[in-house]
Amino acid sequence: MKHIFQKEVEILHHVEVRPGYFRMGLAFPELAQIARPGQFVMVKVPGQESPLLRRPFSVHNRLTDGNQVSGFELLYKVVGEGTSAMSEMVAGDAIDILGPLGNGFSNAEDTQNVFIVAGGIGVASLYYLVLDLAEKGVVKPTVFLGGCSVNDILCKEDLEALGAEVRITTEDCSLGEEGFVTLLVEKALESDKKPDMIYACGPQAMLKKLSAIAASFNVPCQISLETVMACGFGVCLGCAVEKADSGGGYLHTCTDGPVFDSRKVMIES
Ligand SMILES: Cc1cc2nc3c(=O)[nH]c(=O)nc-3n(C[C@H](O)[C@H](O)[C@H](O)COP(=O)(O)OP(=O)(O)OC[C@H]3O[C@@H](n4cnc5c(N)ncnc54)[C@H](O)[C@@H]3O)c2cc1C
Repeated sequence: MKHIFQKEVEILHHVEVRPGYFRMGLAFPELAQIARPGQFVMVKVPGQESPLLRRPFSVHNRLTDGNQVSGFELLYKVVGEGTSAMSEMVAGDAIDILGPLGNGFSNAEDTQNVFIVAGGIGVASLYYLVLDLAEKGVVKPTVFLGGCSVNDILCKEDLEALGAEVRITTEDCSLGEEGFVTLLVEKALESDKKPDMIYACGPQAMLKKLSAIAASFNVPCQISLETVMACGFGVCLGCAVEKADSGGGYLHTCTDGPVFDSRKVMIES
């Protein structure tokens, strides 16, 4: 049976790691012990009437105290009302968390050579996957980080500390190669050893392009969608994504995802 927790937990730390990007540590060991890479939590700032609805955020990192799991971290970008309210909170405040939710990435234990592709804040969920792969002894994942500018390239040093090889693109050429991250992935698929799996999270346009590239090189690809959602557990059905197979129909990002086989869903951009 799936365990889902909901409670107000203490914020252990809350740091603006880059202008507009925050890392929040939460004292929630029971959730952190069972959360898998790619799963998410629904967050509400207590006492705030607006926004009324919880907001979804990926589990970004596990926190430990000695040998004990003590909690987990979120990494988020301020984009609107909910994330602005979160950014005002300080260590010691309580925040309402529901989770872990969703399916998470799969088959990680069977893969040896993986490409991990993050567009901007998409790195939030993928860092936790790299941590998991490092703990399982999967050798040196290649991580592709793409962003508009150097400000949007997060976690480079943390990923390298886990043994990942990090390759970077920025659209304004302020760090790494110039252009979209998908271009770098395409080049690597042409020249490097073919990966067993590509894992990705980022803007829809990036995921759509990447899915086409993965299909053309016949490499399986798991994408984590950040579809706007209201409940997070299959009641509101607001996060529908169209199935790619000829039979049509819909899947729901909250319960069927957020991670999908890129061949199984239609990605809008
Ligand atoms: C499963 C899942 C995991 C996520 N993990 C993270 C994470 O780890 N870190 C993080 O920073 N964000 C993550 N997101 C996105 C995050 O949920 C949204 O940025 C957040 O809900 C915005 O809330 P807000 O009230 O600040 O913005 P709102 O006021 O609701 O919206 C502000 C603007 O952003 C747009 N917007 C809102 N949500 C999204 C979205 N998902 N994609 C594109 N545009 C959007 C709105 O249309 C609007 O224009 C995740 C989303 C999902 C579904």
